[in-house]
Amino acid sequence: MKLRCTICGREYDRPVQRCECGEPVEFELFHGKPYIGKTVWERFYDFWPVEPDPELSLGEGDTPLIRSKLGNELGIKLYLKNETVNPTWSFKDRGTFLAISHAVKEGYKAVGTVSTGNMAASVAAYAAKAGLKAKILVSEEASKEKLKAVSVYGADVIRVKGDYGRLYFKSLKLGERLGVYFMNSDNPLRVEGYKGISFEIAEEITPDYVLIPTSSGGLFRGVAKGFIELFVSGLIDRIPTLVAVQAEGCSPICRAFKEGKERIERFESPKTIAHAIENPYPPSGNAVLKLFREMGGLCVTVSDEEIIKAQAELAREGLFVQPSSATGIAALKKLNLPEGVNVVSILTGSGLKALSTAPLGKVRECSIEKLRECIENNS
Ligand SMILES: *Cc1c(COP(=O)(O)O)cnc(C)c1O
Ligand SMILES: [Zn+2]
Repeated sequence: MKLRCTICGREYDRPVQRCECGEPVEFELFHGKPYIGKTVWERFYDFWPVEPDPELSLGEGDTPLIRSKLGNELGIKLYLKNETVNPTWSFKDRGTFLAISHAVKEGYKAVGTVSTGNMAASVAAYAAKAGLKAKILVSEEASKEKLKAVSVYGADVIRVKGDYGRLYFKSLKLGERLGVYFMNSDNPLRVEGYKGISFEIAEEITPDYVLIPTSSGGLFRGVAKGFIELFVSGLIDRIPTLVAVQAEGCSPICRAFKEGKERIERFESPKTIAHAIENPYPPSGNAVLKLFREMGGLCVTVSDEEIIKAQAELAREGLFVQPSSATGIAALKKLNLPEGVNVVSILTGSGLKALSTAPLGKVRECSIEKLRECIENNS
C-alpha cells in the first residue's frame, strides 16, 4: 500500500491519512483491465487498493445513467448519473464501503466521521452492517431531522461545542490514538471508492464534460483519478473536462482558481441553501487546484436562486435531488458548451434528505362531494 502526497510528493508505505505537510495523500495510480462481473467492485477489481468485502456491502454503486431533456435547448447531450439510489441516498456510500473494508481488515472495532449530513448517515449505516461502533461528530447546530437520519442506525452521535472547522484534523489525531478509524470527507480510501462513478460512466458513454458538485474536493479528486486511471490503462482515449461546481455563497476553490492562486483561503461567513457543499475550508482544496493546473478543467459558481430553479427542473423530469445536487444543472446554462457534446451531471444525493428546504408544489383542496369536478378541472 503506497501513498503519495498530492502536493509535496512525499511517499508513505503505511496507511497514513494526511501528509506531514498537512495536505491529502493518495494511492498511486492503478492500471489494469476490467473483468466480467455483476458489480463495479468486481468488474474493476484491479483498481481498488484494498479488497472490497462483499460481506460489508449494502449494494452501493452501479447507479443509472439517465438521458435528460434539460440539455436539448442548449444543443448538448445531457446525462444524469443518479447517485441518489445508493443505500443511504448519496454517493458517499461508495467511499464508505471501501473505507470500512479497510477498517475491518485492519482490525478496527470503531469508525468515525465528522459530518452532519450524508456522510454521517453513510458511515453510521455501514458501521451497523459491519457490527462496528460509529463515532459521529456533528456540529451544535445540526437539526433534529438530520440527527434522526444518523442516530437511527445506532451510531454514537456526539454534538461538539466549539470550532467545528478544527474537528477534521483533531478527529484524525485522536482516532489514531484511540483506535477509531475516521473516514472523513477526503479520506484516501473514500476518494478511491468514488472512482467507480467514472468507471461506470465510461462503460456507457464517452463524456466530454462532467459536472461535479464540490465541497471538500474528495468527490472531484475521485472522479478525476478514475478517468486518469482509465486513460493510463488504455481503456479511454481522452479524459473529459471536469467542472467543479460550488455555491456562490461558499466557493473557496472557485475563488482561488479565478484569482490564479495555488492555495485556497478560508471562505468567511458561508451562506447557501446547498448545505452538503458548504465547507468553507475544503481539506482537498489545494489538491483540486493542482489538478486544474495539471489537467485543465473549470470551476463555476451558482446562486441559491439558480440552484432552486434547477432543483425544480430536475423534479419535473422525475428526479428529486437535494439543492447541492442540482448545482451541476444550474451551472450548465453558464458554461456555453459547444453543440453536440456529451455532458454528465452527477446527482449526488436525494431531495428527501433536505425536505425542510424543499419548496411545496401546488396542492388543491376539495370536498368529497365535489371530487368529480376537482378531478376534471385541471387548474
Ligand atoms: C458530500 C457531498 C458533496 C460534495 O462532495 P465532496 O467530496 O465533499 O466535495 C456534494 N453533494 C452531496 C449531496 C454531498 O453529500
Ligand atoms: Zn506533503
